[in-house]
Amino acid sequence: MNTLALNIFELIDRLEGSRSLEHSEFVRLLSDDISPDEALYLQHRARFITDRIFGRNVRIRGLIEITNVCRNDCLYCGLRKSNSSLRRYTLTVGEILSCCRLGYEAGFRTFVLQGGENPGLTADRIVETVSAIHKEFADCAITLSLGEWSDNDLELFREAGAARYLLRHETINSAHYSRLHPSEMSRDNRLRCLWTLKRLGYQTGTGIMVGSPFQTVSNIAEDLLFMKELQPEMIGIGPFIPHSATPFAGYNAGNLDLTLRLISILRLMFPGANIPATTALHTLHPQGRDRGLLAGANVVMPNLSPTGIRKQYSLYDNKKSFGAESAEGLAKLASQLEKINLFITTERGDYKNV
Ligand code: SAH
Ligand code: SF4
Repeated sequence: MNTLALNIFELIDRLEGSRSLEHSEFVRLLSDDISPDEALYLQHRARFITDRIFGRNVRIRGLIEITNVCRNDCLYCGLRKSNSSLRRYTLTVGEILSCCRLGYEAGFRTFVLQGGENPGLTADRIVETVSAIHKEFADCAITLSLGEWSDNDLELFREAGAARYLLRHETINSAHYSRLHPSEMSRDNRLRCLWTLKRLGYQTGTGIMVGSPFQTVSNIAEDLLFMKELQPEMIGIGPFIPHSATPFAGYNAGNLDLTLRLISILRLMFPGANIPATTALHTLHPQGRDRGLLAGANVVMPNLSPTGIRKQYSLYDNKKSFGAESAEGLAKLASQLEKINLFITTERGDYKNV
């Protein structure tokens, strides 16, 4: 074993023990010169911790894509307002409740309402939707992923019954942030939302796209240090995948191995966090979902949206779904996961502080 290799094994052990590293040490762990043995060791440590906390259980969340209308123009996203090739839609409260009913029957106990920042979808309407779901499905968790709102609105959603909120910070580096977003959007407003979510007692999720244009390994190390500060309860990590109708159409997708390595690093940093094997990972590689789970993820988010609108919710090209919207679909997912000795659990699956 050469000294370089020894250092990386040591770094992994130290990360597991202290749950953090210095910026330069994270850069080292994320660099290209990590050997296959070292990468495998990292993955095994992360899965070992995942098994210790969650057993071989995989938590499921039903994703409902409630609107593809967005007032923002994030340069990476197919839902950006400048993309005129989409048929825009907004589900009614009744349609959302129907999705929840189907999901509940199949065994889902968490519903994730995700969508663009739709000016027509007012805070009142979100409150109405959340209250209706909370009333009918009192034993279920409601997660929102609806972008940036005022502190007051986030508080109203919480009071209406939303327990969790996903809002990726995308990049903590201001210069990088401004290359991914138009000038009207600010990193600081996103951070304001994230700290408010924490203060309001939401189980708060953040995260990044791996391989977004102009991202450096040093940026990712900064992101890890920011997450250490925020202490999120959920972390969404997926590869960037280009969308043909965006300014980033010609950029490469993010790297599979680096995404998996980050999932493992995050599991060691946040042992009890809910970390999904994301749809983007599943889209990037046919074994992406399974490899994400084996690298330390503990959640999958099958799509409960009405099938007719799914194509219109195109964050990136060729977006896949886990196809587990029905009870039969879920049984199929379960049998696929059994092959890697993992088992779906229908528990609500709140954050565990360990
Ligand atoms: N409007 C909300 C939720 C919808 S977008 C929001 O922005 O938070 C949900 C996530 O999709 C974003 O956080 C982003 O990280 C991811 N996403 C968007 N475009 C993507 C792309 N081209 N490749 C991979 N992920 C993308
Ligand atoms: Fe809108 Fe979210 Fe896409 Fe940005 S990432 S354009 S906020 S849907």
